[in-house]
Amino acid sequence: MNAAPPTAARIATAVTRSECSAEQVVNEALARLDASAGLNAVLHRNDARALERARGLDERRARGEPLGALAGVPVAIKDNICTRELPTTCASKLLAGYRPPYDATAVAKLERAGAVVIAKTNCDEFGMGSSNENSAFGPVLHPLDPERTPGGSSGGSAALVAHGAVPAALGSDTGGSVRQPAAFCGIVGLKPTYGRVSRWGLVAFGSSLDQIGTLTRSVEDAALMLAVIAGFDARDATSAEEPVEDYRGQLAQGTHGVRIGSLSDFVEADGVEPEVSLAVESAVHALREAGTAVQDVSLPLARETIPIYYLIATAEASSNLARFDGVRFGARAGGVASLQELYERTRGGGFGAEVKRRIMLGTYALSAGYYDAYFARAQRARALLQSELDVLFEKVDLLLCPTAPQSAFLLGERIDDPLAMYLSDVFTVLANLGGQPAISVPAPARPGALPVGVQLIARRFDEALLLRTAAVLERAGFRNESAS
Ligand code: GLN
Repeated sequence: MNAAPPTAARIATAVTRSECSAEQVVNEALARLDASAGLNAVLHRNDARALERARGLDERRARGEPLGALAGVPVAIKDNICTRELPTTCASKLLAGYRPPYDATAVAKLERAGAVVIAKTNCDEFGMGSSNENSAFGPVLHPLDPERTPGGSSGGSAALVAHGAVPAALGSDTGGSVRQPAAFCGIVGLKPTYGRVSRWGLVAFGSSLDQIGTLTRSVEDAALMLAVIAGFDARDATSAEEPVEDYRGQLAQGTHGVRIGSLSDFVEADGVEPEVSLAVESAVHALREAGTAVQDVSLPLARETIPIYYLIATAEASSNLARFDGVRFGARAGGVASLQELYERTRGGGFGAEVKRRIMLGTYALSAGYYDAYFARAQRARALLQSELDVLFEKVDLLLCPTAPQSAFLLGERIDDPLAMYLSDVFTVLANLGGQPAISVPAPARPGALPVGVQLIARRFDEALLLRTAAVLERAGFRNESAS
């Protein structure tokens, strides 16, 4: 087996040109999945159907039919995104064994483009967490160091892509869950603009923040995946009618004359590892070399993003998770004497500690006596933050900052200290509160050091520029070494 598995772009080209069969590609990916079993990254496998689908693609190709932009590309899907053929548990006991009756739009689009879903990936329960330790099915291990977290909440997707089992995976990003694990695992994580990708079939956590994103080993694969999953969907009232561009075709254009604002005062905040500051400095250098103008900019409200995010996200979560009552979905407590007891026992026994904490925090922030002081205030602060961002985006085309303040931390290090855990999202929640697209690219690998990521944030719906600039960084060495 090749140590450096091919990228999605390479696989699709090879399958389209009949240089190899989709069945061969999927067989290899399944063997790689076996080899990655120790990571605990996978919750459900799809071997038989994946092989069947691959053979179907090969037959279609033999008949001369076009297969699509992702012909034969094996993909993995975070287990909070609905799949008809496989369970969707959100890594929660409450949804153990639950099988949705439909595919999420993003999954259906991937399959229509020729991709083959081979697995559903482990994550923090309902996407709530930054280390994957909140999964009811055990934590995911970092592919380079089993004592560490791969990040979260899309840790299973990130670990599988970094390990090479699949070239691309879907995750969801409410406050950084695609970008932070991408940074920890040394791969590319893209969170598109809010509304860019349909959320139909994504189990809702924070509805005003959630977005489906991609984890890949190259920027080209991120561009390829986005072009497939993006676009308006009448089934998602928040999906946008913005044209989808040929992102991949623009990657070589470079960034001459592009203006970048480095959020430098934010980055000087306490708790940022020297390795991370160094990565941002070298990104500034690489971008200047490529003809971009980089200036320091400040966003005064940036320091308030964690409280704003954790008020809004928990409030929305408490409302969204009310549907898991033991009546309509998943597990149901037996032997109960009343409906009230059914709710209590199902929810009490089904949800893990972090999910319960968030439901309680969110319910409190929304309750009559505290609504104005907490939820309404957080909404006003969010609106102010958005206007600060709008002002900044009149001066610059992109923002630059770290993805996370540190590299992958040890499993167990923060799990008993929710605040310390929440602080690892300090740089990522900004783009969810503002709705902007953002990408994490891996800083050049340093011997003996764990991966760190740098983050670019663009104007809403300007994924083309975001990806082009990420490609400039990639060409300057900000790349996953095994992407080929
Ligand atoms: N880590 C953040 C949280 O726990 C973000 C989660 C996410 O993006 N799904 O809420």
